Amino acid sequence: MSRRVVVIGGGLAGIAAAVRLADEGWNPIVLETRKKLGGRATSFPDHRSGQSLDNCQHVLMGCCTALLSLYDRLGVSDQIEWHESLYWQREDGGVDLLKPGMLPAPLHTARSFGRMKLLDRSGKSEIRRAMWKLLRGGHRLRQDYRGRTFGEFLSDLNQSAETIRLFWDTVIISACNLPCHQVAAEHGMQVFQEAFLPGRWAGTMGLSMVPLADLYDPAESIILEAGGALRLGCSVREICLEQKRAVGVMTADSMERGDAVISTVPPDRLAKLLRDDVRAQDRRLAHLEDFQFSPILGVHLHFAEQIMELPHLVLAGRPVHWIFNKGVDGQGRQHLHAVISAADEWMSLDEGEILERVMDEVRMALPMSEGLEPITVRAVKEKRATFSATPEIEPHRPGAGPGAIGVKGGDVESLFIAGDWCDTGWPATMEGAVRSGYRAAGAFAGTDPGIEEVPAGWLAHRLGVDR
Ligand SMILES: Cc1cc2nc3c(=O)[nH]c(=O)nc-3n(C[C@H](O)[C@H](O)[C@H](O)COP(=O)(O)OP(=O)(O)OC[C@H]3O[C@@H](n4cnc5c(N)ncnc54)[C@H](O)[C@@H]3O)c2cc1C
Repeated sequence: MSRRVVVIGGGLAGIAAAVRLADEGWNPIVLETRKKLGGRATSFPDHRSGQSLDNCQHVLMGCCTALLSLYDRLGVSDQIEWHESLYWQREDGGVDLLKPGMLPAPLHTARSFGRMKLLDRSGKSEIRRAMWKLLRGGHRLRQDYRGRTFGEFLSDLNQSAETIRLFWDTVIISACNLPCHQVAAEHGMQVFQEAFLPGRWAGTMGLSMVPLADLYDPAESIILEAGGALRLGCSVREICLEQKRAVGVMTADSMERGDAVISTVPPDRLAKLLRDDVRAQDRRLAHLEDFQFSPILGVHLHFAEQIMELPHLVLAGRPVHWIFNKGVDGQGRQHLHAVISAADEWMSLDEGEILERVMDEVRMALPMSEGLEPITVRAVKEKRATFSATPEIEPHRPGAGPGAIGVKGGDVESLFIAGDWCDTGWPATMEGAVRSGYRAAGAFAGTDPGIEEVPAGWLAHRLGVDR
C-alpha cells in the first residue's frame, strides 16, 4: 500500500476528509480546480469595494458538531462569533427579539416567543401545537413522514397560510434553501428538533469574523506535514479504474495514483468523471442526474455611513430573507449583506434590477437608509447553490463507501463518495459536507467517523427531542 489517498475537490467535504486522513496517518493528495480551498463556502477579492468578500454569508449553529470539530482541528474556532438572539423584522416596521431565557430547553425561547408581535394569538398557538408534535415525535416522526414534504406535515397540523409565510417558511427557506412545500419533511423537522428544541447552545448562530477562505489556511500545513499534497488549479478529468477498482485519477498532465479515491465534487461533476457503463454498475452512482439544484443570491452593499445598528435582521415573510451587518470600516463605511435563498425568481434579473428590489427591502427595514444609495454593490448569483433536498431525492443520496455486493454486481471498489449531497441526514449545509468528508475518510480507513450530536437538555430529552 502506498498510503496515498486521492481526494477530488477542496471544498469543506474534501478538507474534512483530507484532514481526517492526515490525522490517521495517510497521505491525502487533494486536487482542486480552483486556486483556493473552500468550494462554495469561500471568499473572493472584490475590486469594487477593495475587500475580500464571502460569496455569501454562511451561517452555522451550535448543533453543527462536525463543522465545529473541523474548525477546532484547524485552530480557527475563535474566529466564529456567536449570536444567541435573533432579530425578526416585522412588516409593520417593528423588530421582535427571539432569545433564550432562564427556562430549561425546550422552553428556553418560550417567553420571548410569547412577546413577539409578528404573529397573533392564533398563529402562536398553531406554532406551539406543531412544536409539541415535533418535540414528542422525535426521530420516529421523521420516519413517519418519509417521502412527504414538510408542508404536508404543516398542513396535517392545520397551520394557516399566514403562519407558514411569516414563521415556518422564513426559517425553512433560510435553513434548507427550499420552501416548506418542497423540502423533505425530515429536514424541516430536523431544523426544529436539532437546532431549536434541544437547548440554547444548539440554536446559537455562528458567523465567521474573517473571510471564509481564511478559515481553511491551516488545512494546507496539516496535509503537507502528513506527507500529502495540495494541488490547487488542478482539475480531475477522469477517475481511473483497473478492473472495478479505483486506482487514481487523470488530470490534464498526469495520473495521480492512490490506494483509494475520495470524490467530494457535486453529483453533476462526478457524473463527468466516470464512464456510463461503470456508473450503471455502482448503486451509489445511478441517480446522479436526478439531483436538482436551488439558487441563492447574496448582495453586498457598502454605504458611506452607518445605517444599521443591530447585528442582523431576519425579514419575516419578505422576498429578501436576511440582512447581515458586516461592520463599519475605519472610514465610516458600512458593509451590509442581503441574502435571498431559494432565489429562482431572481436569477434572470440584472444587477440594477436586483439592487432596486433589495433596496426596497433595505428601506423598509432600515429607515436610516432613506434617501441613500450604496456606494458599491456586488450581487453574487449562485445558480446551483445547493441540491434540492426534496422527498424524491432522499432515497438516492449515496453512502460513502462501496457495498460488498452492489445491486448490479458490485460497486467500484476503493471509490469513496462525499459532498453535501450524500447521505448525511442533513440538507445541503457546511455541516453536511463535513460529515460526509469524515464518513468517507472513516469508510476508507475503517475507523469511526467520530461525529457526535449535541446532547439535549434534561427536560428536552425527557420530552422526546433526541429519541
Ligand atoms: C450562496 C450559498 C450560501 C450558502 N449558505 C450556507 C449557510 O449559510 N450555511 C451552511 O451551512 N451552508 C450554506 N451553503 C451550503 C454550503 O456552502 C455547502 O453545502 C458546502 O460548502 C458544500 O461543500 P462540499 O465540499 O460538499 O462541496 P463544494 O463546496 O462544491 O466543493 C467541491 C469542490 O470540488 C471542486 N471540483 C469540482 N470539480 C472538480 C474536478 N473535476 N477536479 C477537482 N476539483 C473539482 C470545486 O471547485 C469545489 O471546490 C451555502 C451555499 C451557497 C452556494
